[in-house]
Amino acid sequence: MAGIEPVPMIARTACLLFLAFASCGGTQATEVTSPPRASEPAPVAASTAPKSEPAPATTMPASRPDSSPSYNKLTPAEAQVILQKGTERAFTGEYTENEAEGTYICRQCNAVLYRSEDKFHSGCGWPSFDDEVAGAVERHSDHSHGMERVEITCKNCGGHLGHVFTGERMTDMNTRHCVNSVSLRFVKAGDPLPAPIVKKPAK
Ligand SMILES: [Zn+2]
Repeated sequence: MAGIEPVPMIARTACLLFLAFASCGGTQATEVTSPPRASEPAPVAASTAPKSEPAPATTMPASRPDSSPSYNKLTPAEAQVILQKGTERAFTGEYTENEAEGTYICRQCNAVLYRSEDKFHSGCGWPSFDDEVAGAVERHSDHSHGMERVEITCKNCGGHLGHVFTGERMTDMNTRHCVNSVSLRFVKAGDPLPAPIVKKPAK
């Protein structure tokens, strides 16, 4: 669905915002500035200076020390939810009513998170699933906003997904993953799944 298109200003802004957020993570590689000037012999005299090949310009290292792949770029709205743990407004997400068969992957890293067989209509205003793909989702105690909730995040990239609730008896699984649509990307059945973007663990 997201084809190659000219990069409008908003996308550039999103990119900059993403970089700004990413820079908060403290895992970014140290920026490489101009390398220290190599000590070079001073020319004896200007007239006798050899007119050899141009001095080697700033040389890039052959292989960068940290070549972890980058996650998918996020729009400001996506970053607000995925990185800042925000919540999209109820009944506004593009997948809340989606009933098509397919797979829901992480918008930030493409990890497979949920399958359409486990999606159900809860009426809560967000996509609801009563099960996750095994091992794809992590749970964290969330005491924010004066509530006791269990936050769910993508196991691969740590992106915020939403919250999980149990004991509501909405389905036999008795579990409701309440997930923001902007944290997900839907891949309909039969379409190829993009490869997950896996970063190297920080040393
Ligand atoms: Zn992810």
